Amino acid sequence: MTQRPAIRDLFDWELLKGAVLDDRDRAALEIRSVGIGYAEVATALRSQDRADGDGWSVLASAMRAELPELAQFRSLEAAPPVGDSPGDLSRWLLRRALRWSGPLLPEYDARVMIGVTNESFATEVVQRWIATARYAGVFSDIEDRWWYERLRETLDGLFDLVAPVDSGARVARLSEVVGVDLEPEPCIWCREYETVRGCAVCGQAVDAVHSLPSLGAPGWALPRAICFKCILYGDADEEHFDDDSAEIADQVKRGEFGKRSS
Ligand SMILES: [Zn+2]
Ligand SMILES: [Zn+2]
Repeated sequence: MTQRPAIRDLFDWELLKGAVLDDRDRAALEIRSVGIGYAEVATALRSQDRADGDGWSVLASAMRAELPELAQFRSLEAAPPVGDSPGDLSRWLLRRALRWSGPLLPEYDARVMIGVTNESFATEVVQRWIATARYAGVFSDIEDRWWYERLRETLDGLFDLVAPVDSGARVARLSEVVGVDLEPEPCIWCREYETVRGCAVCGQAVDAVHSLPSLGAPGWALPRAICFKCILYGDADEEHFDDDSAEIADQVKRGEFGKRSS
């Protein structure tokens, strides 16, 4: 049986299911947002010029983005959404584009890319500074997302060439520019500052040597980065690693890998 996913299928979304049980206000907001988003996608679909019509131009319009900003999705998406179904397009947004770190970043990866702590990230100066990189398309009121490329340009714009790998140096420069003292966030494991990702489980900053990539990301996405702390405490037991990473994860669990300094 082939039946196109209708709006009811959108509610079969794991974040939503968790929220319904835990927090009714949050659940109400998400249900409302999903409904409004679905309607916006349907409107974008109707106003689409059929001549250039695949799903991507509808999505660009619904995502308030230029079509070239979706190039990475377009070229590497193994399961492209069906271009004439608002349910398919909405589901792709919720389950793929807005779920994985890639062209759009969740808050923890956007924050670590800048290099600041949660507190500094939440300040008005920082939020204003990255406002043009914020995702403002459909479903944007469910959870904040940032366009990777726009954030990259904003960040690199502070430096002669590209932003340095040391988050301390990035944040010192940003503090200068915005005129407020901001705090860099160190790696959760070693307290050094060459952080590259937010851990997909705990959201804290981590560097490349104290995190492992989890399998299963779409071709256009970054693998979920899992920090050693979450591995050590068993908070990442649902993650899947390749053989080499699984071996390192076992060493971390046995307390054999490096040492934690905090
Ligand atoms: Zn580290
Ligand atoms: Zn973690």
